[in-house]
Amino acid sequence: MEFRDLKRQYQVLKPQMDAAMLEVAENCNFISGKQVTELEQQLAEYVGVKHCVTCGNGTDALTLVMMAWDIKAGDAVFVPTFTFFASAEVVAFEGATPVFVDVDERTFNVDPVKLEEAIEQVKKEGKLNPRAVIAVDLFGQPADYTKIEEICKKHGLLLLEDGAQGFGGKIGDRTACSFGDAAATSFFPAKPLGCYGDGGAVFTNDDEMADYMRSIRVHGKSPADKYDNLRIGLNSRLDTIQAAVLKVKLQAFKDHELESVNRAAKLYDEYLGNVVKTPVVPEGFYSSWAQYTLILDSKEQRTHLQKELKEQGIPTMVYYPKPMHLQGAFADLGYKKGDFPVAESLCERVLSLPMHPYLNEEDIRFVANAVKAALNL
Ligand SMILES: *Cc1c(COP(=O)(O)O)cnc(C)c1O
Repeated sequence: MEFRDLKRQYQVLKPQMDAAMLEVAENCNFISGKQVTELEQQLAEYVGVKHCVTCGNGTDALTLVMMAWDIKAGDAVFVPTFTFFASAEVVAFEGATPVFVDVDERTFNVDPVKLEEAIEQVKKEGKLNPRAVIAVDLFGQPADYTKIEEICKKHGLLLLEDGAQGFGGKIGDRTACSFGDAAATSFFPAKPLGCYGDGGAVFTNDDEMADYMRSIRVHGKSPADKYDNLRIGLNSRLDTIQAAVLKVKLQAFKDHELESVNRAAKLYDEYLGNVVKTPVVPEGFYSSWAQYTLILDSKEQRTHLQKELKEQGIPTMVYYPKPMHLQGAFADLGYKKGDFPVAESLCERVLSLPMHPYLNEEDIRFVANAVKAALNL
C-alpha cells in the first residue's frame, strides 16, 4: 500500500497525461509556454480570485508575497508553530522575525484567541513592527479565516493564507486560496493538487501586487522587456511541462478526486470514529485532506501503532515531529519547551494514515482493522 498513491493516479489519467506531456516535448516551449497562462486562468477561476501567479514552488510563492509586502528586518510576522518549516522560514529569510502562535488541538490550525494575544503582546513590547499573519491550512482544512480576517483588520495586519496543503478546501462557499490579502499554494507531488516535480502559485485580487510578482519571478523584469530589469528578483517560474500536467490533474481534481478523497475520509471516520481520535472538521468547513491525521493518547502508543501498521505493509507518517519554536534554525529567537503546549503535545501524538483519492473501501477497511488490532480494540 502507498501512503499517497501517485502511481494509481497516473494509471487512471495516463492517456490525457501522456498526450499533455508529449505536446510540450514536441513544441519545445519548455519555459513560459501557453499552458502556463491557461493554467493560471483556470486556477484563478476555480479559486474565485482575479490573479493567479505561478512560480517554481510553494516556498517561493510565500516568498513572492513577503517581497511584494516588503517584509523586512524589524517586522513581526505571526505564524502557527505547528506547520511545515517553510511557513516560518520565508519570514526569517527576509530578515523579519517569525512570532509563533499555538494551535487549536481540534483543527490543528492557528488558535485565533492566542493569535490576538500574541499580536497584543508584540504591540505592548514595542520592539518589533507587527506587519502580517501567515495562517496555514494544515492537512487540507482551511484555518478559521472568519475570525482571523477580523483580527487582522482590527490590528491593521496583512493576511497571507499558506494554502500549500489546502487547495480545494472551503468555508461555506468561500474557496481555499481566496482568503486574506493573498494566498500561496504548492504543487509538490504529494499535495492535494500536485505536479510531477516542484511548482507553486500565488493568488490575489490586488492588481498591483500581481504585476509586481510577475516581475520578480523573472529577475525583476519590466512588463515589456525581459532584459530591462527594474528590481532585484528571483528565477522562479512554473515549467510548461508542469503546467501541462497540472491542467490534466486540475480537471480530475474537479471531476472526481476532491469528492473521492472526502468519501475516503468519511469511511475512515465511520470505521475509526469511536475507537481513536479522528480529525475534526467543524460545521461549514470542507477539507481537501492533504492528510488524514489521528491523535493518539501518548508517544508510546503512537510508536507502537506505527510499528504494527508497518508490519502489515501500511505506511504512516508523523506530521510533524517538531514544532517551529523548537527548531534549531530558530534557536536564536529564545523559545523554550513548554511555550506552546498544544503543538508540543500534538508533535508527540499525531499519526497520518494513507490518504488519497484512489483509496478504495477495501483499503480503508484493511487499514482500520489493523489500527483496531494494534490498539487492542
Ligand atoms: C509544502 C508546504 C510548503 C512549501 O511548498 P514547497 O512547494 O515544498 O516549497 C509551505 N507550507 C506548507 C504548509 C507546506 O505544506
